[in-house]
Amino acid sequence: MIYVDNAATTKMDDVVFAGMLPYIKDYYGNASSQHSFGQLTRKVIAQARHEFALALNANDNEIFFTSCGSESDNWAIKGVAQALRHKGNHIITTSIEHPAILNACKTIEKIGLKVTYLPVDKYGMVSPYDVQASLRPNTILISIMYANNEVGTLQPIKEIGLIAKKNKISFHTDAVQAVGHVNIDVIDLNVDLLSASAHKFNGPKGVGILYIKDGTPIVPLVDGGHQEKGQRAGTENVAGIVGAGIAIKNNLTDIERNTSKLKMLSSRTVTKLCSRLPNIKINGHETKRLPGIINISIPKIEGESMMHILDMKGICISTGSACTSGEMSTSHVLQAMSLNQEDAKSAIRISFGKYNEPEDVDKIVDAICFAYDKLTRNLNI
Ligand code: PLP
Repeated sequence: MIYVDNAATTKMDDVVFAGMLPYIKDYYGNASSQHSFGQLTRKVIAQARHEFALALNANDNEIFFTSCGSESDNWAIKGVAQALRHKGNHIITTSIEHPAILNACKTIEKIGLKVTYLPVDKYGMVSPYDVQASLRPNTILISIMYANNEVGTLQPIKEIGLIAKKNKISFHTDAVQAVGHVNIDVIDLNVDLLSASAHKFNGPKGVGILYIKDGTPIVPLVDGGHQEKGQRAGTENVAGIVGAGIAIKNNLTDIERNTSKLKMLSSRTVTKLCSRLPNIKINGHETKRLPGIINISIPKIEGESMMHILDMKGICISTGSACTSGEMSTSHVLQAMSLNQEDAKSAIRISFGKYNEPEDVDKIVDAICFAYDKLTRNLNI
C-alpha cells in the first residue's frame, strides 16, 4: 500500500506506540487519584503538557487536552461565544474552515449569534483587509484556520492576530493541519486560542489540544469533574496524551528534515504529472502552503473515479467531494476558491507524510496516468 492521505490521518510513530503501551496496560491509575499509582499518571500528563507548551511557546497552564481537534474547535467557538455573550454577538470566520468550525458556527447562529463567513481568493487565502473591514463594535471572536486541509494554503495568521490584538478581540486559529508540521509561536502570532490534534502529526487518535492564552474568556464545553483545571471534565486519556507528547516532540525535532522531504516529494509529483498530463491544474497557493499537500484538478475525469482506481492499485488518496444523501457535492473549499464545477469535481488530494519515499511518487504518477487513460477512453479496467 502507498498511503498518501496524511491530511486525513497519519501513521503512528513506533516510539509513540512504545511510549503509550505501559499506560494502556500496566499504569492504569486515574490521574485524579490521591495515591501514588494515580499520581504517576498525573506526572506523565504534566510532562506531555510541557511538550506542547514548548512546541507552541506557551505556558504549561495554557495547554488543555481534549478528545480531538473537532472538540477543541467546538470548545473555542462555543466557549468564547458563551463567555462573551454579554459583550457582543458577532463572530468572524472564513468560508473554507473545517466542518468542526463551520457547524459549530451554525449551532451558535441558531441561538442568535451572527457569523460573517469571509471569502477567499483563488489561492484559498483570506485577506487581512477583509477581516479588518468586517469588524463590528459587537465582534467578540475571530476564528481563522492556520492551514487549509484540502489545498494546504497557509493563512496570514500573524497579520490577522495583530488586527485582533489592536481591536481587543479574541483570536482563535484551527491549526489542526499545521501543528507538528510548521513551527508555531502563539506569542509571535498574537493568537489567544489554537486547536491541534495528535493523529495529524503521527500521534494517536482521540487526543486534541486547545491552547488558551491565560485570561482569555471561555467557559467549559464539557462540564463535570475538576480535570484540566475544571475547564474540561472527563477522566484523562493518559496513554493518548503521553503518545501525543512524544509525537509532538519527535516531529518538531525532525521538522527541517521532514519539511524538505515533503517539499521534494510534492514538487517531484507536480513536475512529473505536469510533464505527462499537461492540462492539470494545481489548486492552492504556490509558495504559502503546507509542504505535503497537493490538490490537483485533472480535466475530463471525476476525482471520485480516480480515487477508486488508485484504491484498487493500493494507493490511498482523497477527493474534495462528499457524498451527501447519495448525491456528490463538490468541496466547499474549492467552490469558495471560485473553481468551476468541472475543475472542482475532478480534484484529488495527495497528502504526503514523512514515511513516504521518492519511489512512491513514481508509482503514484504512473497510476494516475493509467487511471486517466482508462477514464478518458472509458475502457473496462
Ligand atoms: N480542523 C481541521 C483543519 C482538520 O483538518 C480536521 C481533521 O481533518 C479537524 C479540524 C478535526 O480534527 P479531528 O479529526 O481530530 O476531530
